[in-house]
Amino acid sequence: MILGNAPAGIVLVVGGPGSGKGVLSKRLEQECGVVHLSSGDLLRDEVRRDTVLGRQVREIMERGELVSSAVIVTLMRRVMRSHPGKRVLLDGFPRSLQNAHDLVELCGTPQLALHLECDDTILMERILKRGNAGGRADDNIHTALRRLRTYHKYHNSTLEWLREQHVPVVNLDCSGDPESVWEQLCAIGRLMRPATRIDANSDTGMAVFPADSNNKR
Ligand code: AMP
Repeated sequence: MILGNAPAGIVLVVGGPGSGKGVLSKRLEQECGVVHLSSGDLLRDEVRRDTVLGRQVREIMERGELVSSAVIVTLMRRVMRSHPGKRVLLDGFPRSLQNAHDLVELCGTPQLALHLECDDTILMERILKRGNAGGRADDNIHTALRRLRTYHKYHNSTLEWLREQHVPVVNLDCSGDPESVWEQLCAIGRLMRPATRIDANSDTGMAVFPADSNNKR
């Protein structure tokens, strides 16, 4: 591993364009204190600052294709170094087999992947809505179709790789609003907490929680 034990753990957020990777990641960042790193945001920042690298990738991004894995690794390595000992949420990386191999070389096998899935028609509607609301340069019909095509070209092999590496994949239905995706994650979290029991002898019939539990209902 190039980065040794920094960061401490990696969680992936994978899904198509418009699937809500960024929104979910930001919420996880707020509520769980993980560090959110988005490969798309890092690239857009380079483009905005008109750096050498930004000039190299701008057209590729406008065409809705993937930039080279070497470029992503350069950006990721730079930013990951500044988060030693943290759990990092990777949004949009890896999204190809080459990316996946580079990721492992950089910081080891991921702990978990959150996979956002829904129909392309919903993704398309969302992207165009975001574009109409003055969103990103690549949120137009032409680029969006290409981004979707690129996504389908590489996505299955990335998922297959995750399975081969025994990375647990949590499938989340992202066809609803961000709150519904969050609820699905919370439901999984609740499964992990100690179960409640109803105290039959109690006057109130209230649920009783184990004494040592700090269960937040
Ligand atoms: P996103 O914000 O994740 O939708 O990414 C926007 C664009 O950045 C994509 O359409 C690609 O051109 C590029 N990009 C983002 N992440 C990657 C990656 N891991 N590998 C290659 N290109 C990427």
